Amino acid sequence: MPTVLETSGNAIGLGCFSTEQVAWQVLRSFLKKSEQMSLDSASIVIWDIDVIGHDAMTELTNLVVRECPVCQRKTMWFDLDQYSAICYGTACSAWIEENLHEKDIIDCGFPPTQYLKQTKSIDEAITELTNLGNKIRSAGEDVTNSMYNQTDVSQAISND
Ligand SMILES: [Zn+2]
Repeated sequence: MPTVLETSGNAIGLGCFSTEQVAWQVLRSFLKKSEQMSLDSASIVIWDIDVIGHDAMTELTNLVVRECPVCQRKTMWFDLDQYSAICYGTACSAWIEENLHEKDIIDCGFPPTQYLKQTKSIDEAITELTNLGNKIRSAGEDVTNSMYNQTDVSQAISND
């Protein structure tokens, strides 16, 4: 069962699904609306049928939303258990993820400009992405403009 919490404290239940995969799909497509809503957190929980109380509940994932360091909208969803984050804002999709092979490395990226960087911590990754967002803005590009030309942004960033 995926559930989303609004900043008002109101919980939005997204339904009850037979597999984890479908629950994730439903949650992901809902999170694309983050920029139009005032959301705070999201979770996916499994309930065992016919079991009373808290023992019946297993929390699969717990996400919180923060301001995206690149596009500056409140659309970056952090999974603190997994050291990962992704921005669901239109035309952004900046991400942070623990490196699959090296535990102490945190990767971050910004697909529209094929930006990719390895860092040592989540904080460092956020700083790198913030710098990237500032560079894009100072190059006169609007990160949130879905019509922007990707090559122009790549050139603006590599030319300094
Ligand atoms: Zn973003």
